[in-house]
Amino acid sequence: MEPQRSPLLEVKGNIELKRALAKAPSRLPLPGSRLKRGPDQMEEDLEPEKKRTRGLGTKVATSRPRATALTTVPQTQGQTAVPKVPRKTGPPCSTAIATVLKNQKPGPAVPAQKPGTTAAPPVVGRKKPSKRPAWDLKGQLCDLNAELKCCRERTQMLDQENQQLRNQLREAQQQATALGTERRTLEEELARVRAQAEQGQQELGNLSTLVLELEERLGTQEGLVQELQKEQLELQEERRGLAAQLEEQERRLQASEAALSGSQAEVASLRQEAAAQADLLANREERLHGLEMERRRLHNQLQELKGNVRVFCRVRPVLPGESTPPPGFLLFPSGPSGPSDPPTRLSLSRSDERRGTLSGAPAAPTRHDFSFDRVFPPGSGQDEVFEEISMLVQSALDGYPVCIFAYGQTGSGKTFTMEGGPGGDPQVEGLIPRALRHLFSVAQELSGQGWTYSFVASYVEIYNETVRDLLATGTRKGHGGECEIRRAGPGSEELTVTNARYVPVSCEREVEALLHLARQNRAVARTAQNERSSRSHSVFQLQISGEHAGRGLQCVAPLSLVDLAGSERLDPGLALGPGERERLRETQAINSSLSTLGLVIMALSNKESHVPYRNSKLTYLLQNSLGGSAKMLMFVNISPLEENVSESLNSLRFASKVNQCVIGTAQANRK
Ligand code: ADP
Ligand code: MG
Repeated sequence: MEPQRSPLLEVKGNIELKRALAKAPSRLPLPGSRLKRGPDQMEEDLEPEKKRTRGLGTKVATSRPRATALTTVPQTQGQTAVPKVPRKTGPPCSTAIATVLKNQKPGPAVPAQKPGTTAAPPVVGRKKPSKRPAWDLKGQLCDLNAELKCCRERTQMLDQENQQLRNQLREAQQQATALGTERRTLEEELARVRAQAEQGQQELGNLSTLVLELEERLGTQEGLVQELQKEQLELQEERRGLAAQLEEQERRLQASEAALSGSQAEVASLRQEAAAQADLLANREERLHGLEMERRRLHNQLQELKGNVRVFCRVRPVLPGESTPPPGFLLFPSGPSGPSDPPTRLSLSRSDERRGTLSGAPAAPTRHDFSFDRVFPPGSGQDEVFEEISMLVQSALDGYPVCIFAYGQTGSGKTFTMEGGPGGDPQVEGLIPRALRHLFSVAQELSGQGWTYSFVASYVEIYNETVRDLLATGTRKGHGGECEIRRAGPGSEELTVTNARYVPVSCEREVEALLHLARQNRAVARTAQNERSSRSHSVFQLQISGEHAGRGLQCVAPLSLVDLAGSERLDPGLALGPGERERLRETQAINSSLSTLGLVIMALSNKESHVPYRNSKLTYLLQNSLGGSAKMLMFVNISPLEENVSESLNSLRFASKVNQCVIGTAQANRK
């Protein structure tokens, strides 16, 4: 059995076979050329043989093997199958053909024989005729005829053989053509296979590269996988931790949920409770409001019982450098309940030099006793004084106009009482900053009950019957154009000062700034005119507006804090120079306005039909703070010095008159 060959080798074999076959025609010069020449030419070729035979009879036998070779052509030329051609190129063509023929299955009639040993033609094996004697021409002719006959037979046979060979040649050519075609096909196939092989090679190269890449990637991936595995392990660990945490959280959540449901129930009950509380609160608020209104009513009643016009006497201490008054000059007798009672009385002893005893000894000093709503001896602090008036100030929040005066001669302590002492020491803060602080804090408390308050401040001085703004800023600072007092509108009760600043205030610092500004304005004026501040009235006014939006309530009231001009009279013995004349005019204006104030208070007290407000700028400006429902408090400031006794007595007498006044029953300005 033939071993299985690779297609490539088979193709190669085929190609070699074809090559052999393609070369074959050129390698068949003798038989081919001879065959191509046809039977006639062959005959010609035979002719020399004949000739030789004729001439050299012995040579006939030597030419036989060639003819014999041709006779060995098998008689099975009709077979179409082309036998497999051996790979080797083989012997020259005649031999090749012989080999081809030999490979073909020989016909049963003619067995294959080796050239030269082939079966002899009919003549072969015949006994050579015995040589005839030269004379035996007839015999010779007979021999020659026999030989001719034999040659003819042979020629005939060779023709047949030639024909067969032609047929064989045609077949061989057909085979060659077929093989050529096959060769081309195979070559094409070979080329294709080569191309495929090359492509395969290239692909193989690519694949190798790819394999390398993939191997590299595999290495990377493996590293990655290892990392991932490590990470996975970590994550698993973490997951376990988280799972434990989750479990814990879930447990807590459950506990929280339980707590929540408990809390929800609690919230529900608390809500119910809150609703009940809200109801209660509303009731309480209602009650509180009722109580607040009741408080206001009672407060007012109390203030009225105390008097709508009250007079407090304050004696300032002896200042360093001043001569101490003789003992008993000023006395503060205790009240009916003893020393624990706040003092309300004051005794002033005056030794009258004009009065003398018959013996010429100085007369015993005359005692002047005064009684006021409250008397503050020299040691009384600002806080003590304010405590007494704080309730009155609060009335302004309840809607009652409140007016507080400081009356007295220059240097008796009016400004100290109203604005405070020098240096900004809180201990010596005056009534104005204390009153405002109190108002702000009470307003804040009342906001809890639904009240909203606003405060607008103004500060003017009245000098020689002219009004000047103490809060003026910029170019008007210190000089301030003249201001006029006008009604806020036609038919309006409210008064306003033209060209004066009305500044909204809501805290202590703003009030301090205003007082500071007023002091600066006064200081500028002081350099221009000698001690004008003590020759003018300073009027600090605060317009208080309260609103209870929930109940539609409103209350509006002014709080006026007035530092009056020095009440001292002009010394009648003083020479009247140009400065003194001016001073006299000032004094007359001051006295006129102060006496008008007294008259207004009297008229109000006596409920007279005409109240002379218009007689002075001061009373005109303050008219809304004095009449009807207003509450008035007058501080009479007294100097402790003996040398001021005359002015002190005047002040105390004026204050006593005021103290006797009772002005109407106060009505809150409620809308
Ligand atoms: P007025 O304003 O009546 O002219 P002042 O208020 O200017 O008087 O007081 C005059 C001086 O007396 C100031 O130096 C003031 O500090 C001082 N003084 C007034 N009253 C008191 C008092 N109660 N305690 C301490 N010093 C006072
Ligand atoms: Mg003063």
